[in-house]
Amino acid sequence: VFIGIAWLESVALEHIDSVGERVLIIGGGNTAMDCCRSSLRLGGKDVKVLYRGSRDRMKSSDWELEPALEEEVELVLNHSPEEYIVENGKLVGMKFGVLEWEQGENGRLKSTKVGEVVIPCDTVILAIGQENSFPWVERDIGLDFDEWEVPVVDPTTYESTISGVFFGGDSAFGPKNIIEAVEHGHQAAISMHKYCHNESLTERLPYGMNLVTAKMGLHEWTFSNDYGYENRVDVPTVPMERRFKDINIEVELGFEPGQFKKEVERCLNCDIQTDFAAELCIECDACIDVCPVNCLMISENADEEVLRKQIKTPANNVEQALFVSEALPQTARVMVKDEDVCIHCGLCAERCPTAAFDMKKFTL
Ligand code: SF4
Ligand code: SF4
Repeated sequence: VFIGIAWLESVALEHIDSVGERVLIIGGGNTAMDCCRSSLRLGGKDVKVLYRGSRDRMKSSDWELEPALEEEVELVLNHSPEEYIVENGKLVGMKFGVLEWEQGENGRLKSTKVGEVVIPCDTVILAIGQENSFPWVERDIGLDFDEWEVPVVDPTTYESTISGVFFGGDSAFGPKNIIEAVEHGHQAAISMHKYCHNESLTERLPYGMNLVTAKMGLHEWTFSNDYGYENRVDVPTVPMERRFKDINIEVELGFEPGQFKKEVERCLNCDIQTDFAAELCIECDACIDVCPVNCLMISENADEEVLRKQIKTPANNVEQALFVSEALPQTARVMVKDEDVCIHCGLCAERCPTAAFDMKKFTL
């Protein structure tokens, strides 16, 4: 008799390389599907998956269940495990209660046992869900638990009822899959970072949006910020007189290595953005001084129309709003940037002595 997850781990680590011929898998989730298909590959001849409810209530994904059925795993529904049958110290079968289900008064499904059956086997793998177990958490420390005995967690910040204590994955939301648990970890990590920087946990980028620094060193970036002013290079082509000699001649030859590099340097790096942290700015003006297109300015805050007249380089596209920062700590003036003119060269971030400017890669 094995526990499904531990058994799969042992199979993956090659501690287990065989299984009995008659295998019963108890459970209806994706772990059960992994167990039954692995059993077939380790020597199982008669592999059954037994689930206590109907097929539509099974937790397994269709794309896990269907290949298992294709491989002739037998699915036995409405069977609830009751007892191992052991003879002379050896497992020879398992007793199941046969269930029927009906809607109870409170709307929840209620089962009635209508029979019993013993299914012969030599191996049982328990692929049933595990319950959370937090007996070690004292109940008077301010951490609230819900009726399922899992901590009450904010679904956006993943913070528990104790400030600075975060939960995610199955421990917070019950059985889901690893992808969701990883995402919980990601969101909780964002919250922890904000918590450690004394920032609001709820003010975060819209879901799915990411801004990650492109900084690799003082003057190194993960992108090439040396903007090339060359005109577009035409792709070399086969001369007209040779084009029609053979139908298989490809007209466009592609760039030579040198041309390719030049063309790439013309990229405006639109996915890389300046990111400004007003609280770090000491108003030294170094970024304004270095900006090759003069799209930065520190000024008293004013309406956009007024600010537009003050900024050195006039924008071609006035539809695009100016960036106006929060009040700067020294003088309460604001950093203004014309996003439409910026060429994402990163020089402001390289020059800034306090890292108030950073270049961040945006993904959605
Ligand atoms: S990235 Fe370059 S162009 Fe844009 S504000 Fe900074 S220095 Fe100016
Ligand atoms: S270089 Fe940095 S600290 Fe200096 S004004 Fe620009 S953002 Fe502020």
